[in-house]
Amino acid sequence: MPIMSSVTATDSSADAALRVLQKTYGFDAFRGAQAEIIDHVIRGGHSFVLMPTGGGKSLCYQIPSLLRDGVGIIVSPLIALMQNQVEALRQLGIRAAAINSNVDGGSIASTKDAILRGLIDLVYVAPERLLMDDFLALLDEAPIALFAIDEAHCVSQWGHDFRPHYKQLSILAERYPYAPRIALTATADAPTRRDIVECLKLEDGRSFVAGFDRPNIHYTIVPRDNARAQILRFIRTNHAEDSGIVYCLSRKLTDETAAWLETEGFTALPYHAGLSAEVRARHLERFLKEEKVIMVATIAFGMGIDKPDVRFVAHMTIPKNIEAYYQETGRAGRDGLPSNALMVYGAQDAVMQRNFIETSDAPDAQKRIEHQKLNALLGLCEAAQCRRQIVLDYFGDSCAPCGNCDTCLTPPETFDGAIAAQKALSAAYRTGQRFGAGYLIDVLTGKDDERIRSHGHEKTSTFGIGADMGKTEWQAIFRQLIALNLLSVDADHGGLSITAQGQDFLREKKELRLRKAEKSRGLPKAARSGAADAAVAPEDRPLLAALKAARMELARAQGVPPYVILHDKSLIDMTFLKPDTLERMALVHGVGEQKLEKYGRTFLKIVAAHS
Ligand code: ADP
Ligand code: ZN
Repeated sequence: MPIMSSVTATDSSADAALRVLQKTYGFDAFRGAQAEIIDHVIRGGHSFVLMPTGGGKSLCYQIPSLLRDGVGIIVSPLIALMQNQVEALRQLGIRAAAINSNVDGGSIASTKDAILRGLIDLVYVAPERLLMDDFLALLDEAPIALFAIDEAHCVSQWGHDFRPHYKQLSILAERYPYAPRIALTATADAPTRRDIVECLKLEDGRSFVAGFDRPNIHYTIVPRDNARAQILRFIRTNHAEDSGIVYCLSRKLTDETAAWLETEGFTALPYHAGLSAEVRARHLERFLKEEKVIMVATIAFGMGIDKPDVRFVAHMTIPKNIEAYYQETGRAGRDGLPSNALMVYGAQDAVMQRNFIETSDAPDAQKRIEHQKLNALLGLCEAAQCRRQIVLDYFGDSCAPCGNCDTCLTPPETFDGAIAAQKALSAAYRTGQRFGAGYLIDVLTGKDDERIRSHGHEKTSTFGIGADMGKTEWQAIFRQLIALNLLSVDADHGGLSITAQGQDFLREKKELRLRKAEKSRGLPKAARSGAADAAVAPEDRPLLAALKAARMELARAQGVPPYVILHDKSLIDMTFLKPDTLERMALVHGVGEQKLEKYGRTFLKIVAAHS
């Protein structure tokens, strides 16, 4: 086998790993802690790896699987995605296979045979399959290089995607103590991490926790005035040529939004749990294999999707909490190229999320935590500070103001909001702490209508005391008071009541800086249309387009997604380097030995034709 034979007895494992990175993957150097992790695993150590999406977790188990004797067993919850992962590895000349219910019996039998005979490098399995008696019996006999447990947060009931079968993976430590275990996740919080270490018995191993920052993602959060118009403007100006994801709260909204984007001339596909498995699989397939497809989805979509060139993620409503926001937006830009995250939100979203929490069957303690997490998200939405700082701080990480989010690029104006806040709180108090923001704003601005008269609220002392400001200003103030936890929203009917903190505020007459309301804050200006095109000089864009077309043809012929052939980054690199020989083509990012041999000439011809 080519990879092992290049490793001689005198190589240190670090040299061998670097050689594989360069020859097989076509990359120059390891990133972050990759080299250290790989070295540790090759030496047989257990590890827990926490790295953001796109950080490069896969190499941490792939390269040790190649360099250790035996097969690497990769446990992954996502059968639908295994075939693509396997295909991407085969393109590199790595012997990989998946064993799951989509694979026919003959292929499974030959993979099992290859495992026993040590003739395969990596095998992907779902935990359900791994835990079957016959599979465990096979592993008892097989040479095992390592166990990699991907999406390891699935072991934790605390995490957002608990899978009971994952919990049973504790058997690996008992039954195969000689094989190193590496658990990988991008999920951040401390209780989840503890559960993973405990369940997979990694106490004797090493923990590698990378920073969470995704510097290539630009964050924008805007109040909703017209969600459709806002999203459309965002996509048209920044991403008309790109793939992206639009998250919606409900199935119905997902279907409607996809249909509407189609009428606007985009290829948009719905994805939610109400669609049949076949439809979902078909839409996922198109999203992966075609270009410029927009997936309109509920949170049912996304985990493990390793499409590297998702250029934007838009939220039509607020997500559940900051973790969910970071996970969902994190699906953009795994290839490291500039990408955008836009969230459009309104006060009503918080009422809906509170309702979800209250109507769930979670115990009360859990509900309280969920409410707090939601508060933190609302704080993020209303912040005048760098968005990235707030998010990283939430995960116990930090950064300087990033210069790549809306609040950094267009710092919001603030004003002394103490008097306005007092008026708002007292309007809530005088009307019995059971009305929502809309009604309270009508009272404050002195709106003379039936509903107010029917309650006799035109006679309260707060009626009309806020007439110096308009509805939009008051909406912004109420949102911030909720985010600051001075007012809390009743989950049932959205009524606002004063919190203990709100009472302190009234008593102590504290100072309060609030953000000024702005109508539709500027949408991202940083990223230009199609991040790939933006990086390339205008005279080279026809070359890039031709390279992409050739890639698409190769991908279609093999029935694989275009990024499996080569990433955008590699094609962009070709427009810079303009290689005129195979030796120079080998210098291009992501062009290893196999890809050079398979595709080098095709792309050389295209570069030649354009120079
Ligand atoms: P994760 O699983 O952590 O989300 P991946 O393993 O999919 O991330 O890697 C993200 C992207 O970065 C992939 O396109 C991968 O090929 C690329 N990558 C990983 N490590 C390196 C490296 N050392 N040099 C260049 N590219 C890398
Ligand atoms: Zn910032």
